[in-house]
Amino acid sequence: MSKPAPLLALNWKMNKTPAEATTWATELASHLPRTGAELAIMAPAVDLSALAWALRDTAVALGGQDVSQHESGAHTGEISAGMLLNVGARYAVVGHSERREYHAETSGVVAAKARAALTAGLVPIVCVGEGLEVRERGGQIEYTLDQLRESLSQVSIDNAGALVIAYEPVWAIGTGLAATAADAEELAAAIRGALDGLYREYASGVRILYGGSVKPGNIAEICAQPNVNGALVGGASLDVASVVAMAAAL
Ligand code: PEP
Repeated sequence: MSKPAPLLALNWKMNKTPAEATTWATELASHLPRTGAELAIMAPAVDLSALAWALRDTAVALGGQDVSQHESGAHTGEISAGMLLNVGARYAVVGHSERREYHAETSGVVAAKARAALTAGLVPIVCVGEGLEVRERGGQIEYTLDQLRESLSQVSIDNAGALVIAYEPVWAIGTGLAATAADAEELAAAIRGALDGLYREYASGVRILYGGSVKPGNIAEICAQPNVNGALVGGASLDVASVVAMAAAL
C-alpha cells in the first residue's frame, strides 16, 4: 500500500480567543500554499465555530483537543464527540501527555475516549510517548507500545482504518529538543508493527504522526521517514508564517 497523505495537525493548546482565531484563520486562508498534506487545527472548543466559518472555503479541517468518553448527560465541563462534530470538527486529540500528566488521564480513559470518538464518527488522534527517564534507560519502545496497546484496547478492527496515532516523546514537547528523524522513525516503525499485530491489513492505512518541537526547519526530514505520516505541532502552530512554511515543506 502507498504511503497515506500526510496530516499536519496543529495543537493550539490553551491559546487564542474566537476573535484571535478568526484573524489567524483569515490570514492563513489568504496564504495557503500548495501542499500534499491535509491541514487540521486542534483548537480550543470555543474557537471551533468561528474557525469553521472563517475557513469555510478551504479544505482545512478542525478538531478538538480532547473529547468526553460519554455521549451526554451529567458530566460538567466535558464536551462530547457529537458536539464537536456538530460545530464542524473532524478530529479529536486524545491522551495528549499534558492531559495524562496534569489531568490524571489513564490509558484506560484514553481508550474509552478513542472509542467514543470513533463511534460518533470523529477521528481520534491518539497520543503516546515516553518521558525522559524512560528514554534515558532505553525503554522507549516497550513503554510506548504498552501505552499504545492499552490506549487502543477499546478500538476494534472495524474502526481501525480511521485511526491516527501521534508519537510524542514527552521530553521533546515544548522543549525545542525534537527527536532525530531516525528516532522518530524507529518508534513509528515499532508502532506500525504493533498496529499490524492488532489490526492486520488495516495497519498500513493508519497515519502515524510525530510530535515534539516540530518546526519549519525539521518537518521535511522527519515526515520523509517511511513510517511517519505527518506531524502534530504545538508551539510552531500559533504563527501563520510557520504553518505556511511547514505545509509547503510536505
Ligand atoms: C504538542 O503539544 O503536541 C507539541 C508537540 O508541542 P510542541 O510542538 O510545542 O513541542
